[in-house]
Amino acid sequence: MSEALVRPPTIPDGLAHRREDGSHPLPAIPQGTFMPDSLDRERDASICPSAPVVGEAVQPHGCLIAFDSDWQRVHLVSANLSRFFGSSASEALGRRPEQVLGTDTATVLARTLAEGAPGMAIPSGQADVASRHLYVSTRLAGRYVVLEVEPLAAESHELPGLGHAWSTRLARAGSLHELHAHLLRALQALTGFESCTLHSHEYGGGSAQRGREGMRLEPFPSAVERRIDTPLMLVDNQAKPVELLASPAALPVALPCSLRLPPPKLAGWLQGRQARAALILALHGVSPGQSLVVCRDRRPRHLPPPLRHLLQQLVQLAALRGALLHEQRETKYRYRLLHERNTKLQWLAYTDPLTQVANRHRIEQVLEAELATSSRNGSSLTLLLFDVDHFKSINDTYGHEVGDRVLHQVARVAQTQLRKSDHLGRWGGEEFIVVVPGCDLAQAQELAWRLCQTLARSVIAPVGQVTASFGVAVSQPGDTSRRLVQRADRAMYRAKRAGRACVRTQELDE
Ligand code: GH3
Ligand code: MG
Ligand code: MG
Repeated sequence: MSEALVRPPTIPDGLAHRREDGSHPLPAIPQGTFMPDSLDRERDASICPSAPVVGEAVQPHGCLIAFDSDWQRVHLVSANLSRFFGSSASEALGRRPEQVLGTDTATVLARTLAEGAPGMAIPSGQADVASRHLYVSTRLAGRYVVLEVEPLAAESHELPGLGHAWSTRLARAGSLHELHAHLLRALQALTGFESCTLHSHEYGGGSAQRGREGMRLEPFPSAVERRIDTPLMLVDNQAKPVELLASPAALPVALPCSLRLPPPKLAGWLQGRQARAALILALHGVSPGQSLVVCRDRRPRHLPPPLRHLLQQLVQLAALRGALLHEQRETKYRYRLLHERNTKLQWLAYTDPLTQVANRHRIEQVLEAELATSSRNGSSLTLLLFDVDHFKSINDTYGHEVGDRVLHQVARVAQTQLRKSDHLGRWGGEEFIVVVPGCDLAQAQELAWRLCQTLARSVIAPVGQVTASFGVAVSQPGDTSRRLVQRADRAMYRAKRAGRACVRTQELDE
């Protein structure tokens, strides 16, 4: 990187009023502020794709002056220069900047640039400009210092207060809908334009529609490039543009410029909406697509740069708040999805796919938990174990598929007889288990008989009557789930031996 490329602009000789002690009154220039030309040009082109170049024209409400960063020569001016400063455009080209701007103005501008401020107000000396003040925006573009001079209608003392009030509302918006409503209201109030609308790529094409959360969104104007990064202020669609004139030594360069004309397609789009004046600002990050706010008015309107800066800040704040709200909503959605998936996974892990009741793993867990609770409470826990009778012959006669359906139906019939607090599970094969908390052996026996008879009465097509044999056991102090199940199992085999389709309870001495 050559030294010339990173050198900060020097303060012009004779502009710096030396103090008596010889010290320099101008502020120090921050190091590292200036980029190599190539990078600078790249950045300028990206932030201002429609920047005017030598030989092009700009909007006539302001004027443009560009000179080399050594403050030696004016290289570029708009043809209307004399309306704002003493010299005509042809006189100004090739002269030193302070000869065109006046020494006082040039001195203050040098300081403004060195401080990195976006611009400054200066008194207007020309009767041709109606306003008493001008606003000079200062920018660096490659080897050029670019000044854009615009009328400043009135001192804008109230702007900071207004800005604070609106930014507070934007920062507190609880939804995208509320945020957009506040933003459009702020823009309408501060610009005084007839209409302010929000356009989004998210809902491209067609007419206005309601987006998520009921926001009213206009389709993204096809005339507007996707990448509108810098605000676009059109003062009067019908005003004749003024030409940019260049000195013979001028280098071709794209200038970052807010006086630039809108691209013809965009100008046509605005004209089609009877808009003579417009302000277009981009909102980044509010929603997946890019969004724009478009403020329009049928009359020519000029918004002075300090107000434009405030509007841009509000839009940036809204974009940040929007991105945060969007992220919050996404996070909530992701959390809900995760929760749903976890629930589903858990259900899959706990459920027997054939019968849709608790699987062996789950019913064992439940049995352990209920046994622990009952032993803590000093109460007893009863257990029913039942096995479908002659199930093998059902399979053999009707096939396994029918056998599967029968198992499913048996579980359903059993479920109809149980309370919420009872737990039905498939123990294995054609064997089921019911964990019944809070009842004694007699009540459990009664429940088993009810299940046994209900099953025997139900007709399960195409098999017809299906029965099961039941064993009932009750927990004893210091019992384990294994011993409890063994007692129920032995009782169930006694029921088998007693002819099936019946209930047997554990023996008293078991
Ligand atoms: P018992 O009255 O003595 O209980 O006679 P059973 O025929 O019901 O008993 P056995 O143990 O002889 O046969 C049980 C059959 O259940 C054998 C097995 O193939 C079948 N079986 C086990 N699990 C399933 C299943 O998931 N689907 C089907 N269709 N059959 C199953
Ligand atoms: Mg069986
Ligand atoms: Mg069996």
